[in-house]
Amino acid sequence: MNPLPIRKTHAFLLALLSTAAVHADTAAPGRGGGAATVDGARIAAADSEPQNWLAHGRTYGEQRYSPLARINDGNVEQLGLAWAFPTATTRGLQASPIVVDGTMYTTGTWSVVWALDAKTGRELWTYDPEVPRAWGRHLCCDAVNRGAAVWKGTVYSGTIDGRLLALDAATGKKRWEVNTIDRSKPYSITGAPRVVKGKVLIGNGGGEMGVRGYLSAYDAVTGQLAWRFYTVPGNPKDGFEHPELAEAAKTWKGEWWVGGGGGTVWDSMAYDPELDTLYVGTGNGAPWARDIRSPGGGDNLYLSSILALDPDTGRLKWHYQTTPAENWDYTATQHIVLADLALGGKTRKVLMQAPKNGFFYVLDRVTGELLSADKYAPVTWASHVDMKTGRPVESEIADYSREMRLIVPAAFGGHNWNPMAFNPKTGLVYIPAMQPMGTYPPSEEFKRTGKYSRRDMFWNPGIDWNTAIDATLDLMKQMGGTLPPDRGYLKAWDPVLKKTVWEIEHPAFWNGGLLTTAGNLLFQGTGDGRFVAYAADTGRILWALPTSVGIVAAPVTYEVDGEQYVAVMAGYGGAGALTSGDPRTMATGRYVNDGHVLAFKLGGKTAMPRIAEKDLSIPEPPALEATPAQLENGKYAYMRTCMVCHGALVVSGGVVPDLRMLNAAKHSIFKEIVYDGVIHGAGMPRLGDLLTEQDVRDIHAYVAARAAEDRAAALAAAKPAKP
Ligand code: CA
Repeated sequence: MNPLPIRKTHAFLLALLSTAAVHADTAAPGRGGGAATVDGARIAAADSEPQNWLAHGRTYGEQRYSPLARINDGNVEQLGLAWAFPTATTRGLQASPIVVDGTMYTTGTWSVVWALDAKTGRELWTYDPEVPRAWGRHLCCDAVNRGAAVWKGTVYSGTIDGRLLALDAATGKKRWEVNTIDRSKPYSITGAPRVVKGKVLIGNGGGEMGVRGYLSAYDAVTGQLAWRFYTVPGNPKDGFEHPELAEAAKTWKGEWWVGGGGGTVWDSMAYDPELDTLYVGTGNGAPWARDIRSPGGGDNLYLSSILALDPDTGRLKWHYQTTPAENWDYTATQHIVLADLALGGKTRKVLMQAPKNGFFYVLDRVTGELLSADKYAPVTWASHVDMKTGRPVESEIADYSREMRLIVPAAFGGHNWNPMAFNPKTGLVYIPAMQPMGTYPPSEEFKRTGKYSRRDMFWNPGIDWNTAIDATLDLMKQMGGTLPPDRGYLKAWDPVLKKTVWEIEHPAFWNGGLLTTAGNLLFQGTGDGRFVAYAADTGRILWALPTSVGIVAAPVTYEVDGEQYVAVMAGYGGAGALTSGDPRTMATGRYVNDGHVLAFKLGGKTAMPRIAEKDLSIPEPPALEATPAQLENGKYAYMRTCMVCHGALVVSGGVVPDLRMLNAAKHSIFKEIVYDGVIHGAGMPRLGDLLTEQDVRDIHAYVAARAAEDRAAALAAAKPAKP
């Protein structure tokens, strides 16, 4: 095993009944007949057709709870593979498949869309939007997609380069396509569209690259833009696009629009048909550092907020900001769940969210009133949320404008996009929780000059990577060579009692989303490559199967011909896997990350796909001449430009190539790859506009030096011990 010089996990351093509904079997699987009648009434009445998974979180309320119970805590040990569909990908798979009357619609790496026979896994059609791979440089967190939406015979899906697609559900042929972004800016789409009242809702990502967030609504038939809600104000001189922005602008200072402001709507949405209200989560500030983003302070609305919108007009009904003056990449884009809870002797219509900042929020979704906010994970940046003001009370260490701070949770959050689930029978919310610690060093440039050049606009959130790596290495020395690991949990949270009822620690910190069912079951895939069924009430493991591929997506369940299936996309990826994966704890550290859709049923007898083991040996790198100053420059340039995908200290999480293992041929064209972009078609963008040729030479020297260091250590460890 290759010794790691550091726990990489620090390294950030360091996502009405329809007649057709009750006769599900009348629609022939595979011909899209069922998809033709999916509309708001069918989705709103999803419980009347539990055999289907009609919307992203199954229902508009996104509980990810299924009333199906044919598979239950008494028989789940008979679960076996029904079918596996190879996606021919080795990067992250994050989608929640949609299943309508025997047909599954799902998405994968580089925004490819598939329709599969949900009973057999047979491919019905594939649509490849042919995303230019060079767009990869605009991605914070892998070339992922979290799924499609289906509405009246059309499949809607976003592309990583900012387009919205409408595809014929029966054939996969494109009906229309719209560009949703300013293509000169580093936007991306990873989230799943939702369709409400004939409008397709889609946001975007790019908060780490310097963009302005918004949510767009397009007419489902024509693709015409119906409305757009910007989450942060632009330059007031240009006028405000809608009245809410005039209010928001009072909470910003300086020239915030230059850096975009952030607040991207990159994942969570939910809809209450009775209240006719759309709920949307917004992202972090751009840049993260608030003193740079909005010098002089302010809450910076509507960053890190939950917005309640009128779905017809996009007008704001109310908002709740989880993290005023956001400063730590604390998005509120995490999964929003709607439920009715008995609180204080009354049934309240609530909205629940466990955003990155570590507090579990319960809001009255009618009024936006804060009902509770309690720590579901360790939190050091705030002592508590003041229930009178609804605001977090920041601790002394929260401010890193003058000196570096170690803060929990780090930018990965106490919980990321990986969906949580709510089971009305147990009353529990299941959270794929994390405990990451992170270093937040202030920008030395900003401290010194009061200015921030954002010279790259590339992973440039206003903190100082150079300081971060040096400080982390220093800290490791003080702590005897290692830092406490980031931890990953499955937590069962009682939103009424406001406490964790049980929790299970996983080997890896970055794990899959959740599905819970009326069969007292809870399903989750793990980063170390297992698919597990737990008792929903107690957390007891009832069944587990090695997958050899790490799982981050959430499972779904459905029935075809009277048989229940549980399906999940297996393919590790996303921020936690790329930037900070610890390969020792993750399946990607050992196995090729071969993507599949896996579908299980009782008595399934299909053999699991054979996943190849990786060759982890480090070839001898070329001897490159570099001065100590050049190696230092190489290290910093690597951290600024390469780390976000290839991992801190040149140790990859295994989703994209580990540069220590480059072969001689790749070494010989290192400059052509990095500076000129000769393999951009494979997803490695040209970086010649961000780096000088000397930077690239220095990065190469640093990469070769790291390879030589770890190769020597591996060879020493492999030598037989002396007798
Ligand atoms: Ca972010």
